[in-house]
Amino acid sequence: MSDVRRLVLAFDIGGTTIKAAAYDAALRPLAGARRPSPRGPAVVDALAGLAEEVLAALPPDRREDVVAAGAVALGLVDEARGVMRRAVNLDVTDLEVAGPLSRLLGVPTVLGHDVEQAAIAEVEASPTEVRQPFVVVIGTGIAAATFVDGAPLRGVSGQAGELGHVVVRPDGRRCPCGAVGCLETVASAAAIARDYSERTGTAVTGASDVLRRLGTDPVADEVWAEATSALADALVMVCTLLAPGEIVLGGGLAEAGDALVEPVRTTMLERSYVATVPPIRASVLGSRAGLVGAAGLALRTIGAR
Ligand SMILES: [Zn+2]
Repeated sequence: MSDVRRLVLAFDIGGTTIKAAAYDAALRPLAGARRPSPRGPAVVDALAGLAEEVLAALPPDRREDVVAAGAVALGLVDEARGVMRRAVNLDVTDLEVAGPLSRLLGVPTVLGHDVEQAAIAEVEASPTEVRQPFVVVIGTGIAAATFVDGAPLRGVSGQAGELGHVVVRPDGRRCPCGAVGCLETVASAAAIARDYSERTGTAVTGASDVLRRLGTDPVADEVWAEATSALADALVMVCTLLAPGEIVLGGGLAEAGDALVEPVRTTMLERSYVATVPPIRASVLGSRAGLVGAAGLALRTIGAR
């Protein structure tokens, strides 16, 4: 098959939704599907169902062009074995993902960590090449990746980048991790929606509902300001320790664009004494970064990128 016809299937296993799509070698999507994330081993059944949906949505003459698959997952991932080691939000422990998908699809299949692959995708999609970018992914939770010499830093444990569990409000709310005042108890998309709902008694489904009310609803303004302030505090720590060349704000929340970037930048400049605040921008890929990252991982595995 010629290189231009090659397709890969990509899967993004998140805490709320599992997304799937077929991509060509230029990372253009051809067909996609999504469903709510189930709990436990049913995750594999959901992946199989999504694979069938995406294949069915492809033009019949393109189904045979799928040559590899890539999946990314939250939590701890064993890439070498293709196993989700632990994902608390999904009640998953030691779940084989790459093996069953590969047997189902009949193509090489790889599993990677969602934030790492999303960050790689963001850096590859960047309009300019930056030394040592720091990529934050803000969705249901918050995590980050720092790049050193072009590769994300993993740390000895493989757990580097847990920015969401840096304590920024010690008198704040208890985090499911056990600590009090973690960044993601204030600034994740889930926390923003929850805080607004609690203070107004109006149930909102996501941070985008709060975003829409900015400028007209003082409670929305207050919740948003608390979130961007906490994010700025955490990022000042990051800059003090790592001096990144650029900060990229990604994940679903970054679709807010300047409404997110500007208050974070302004607050960082106010509170930064030792650290230099580098350029800050919203991501190019937004909530698609995980899926694009999974596709990129699959393409690299077969040597197509
Ligand atoms: Zn925590």
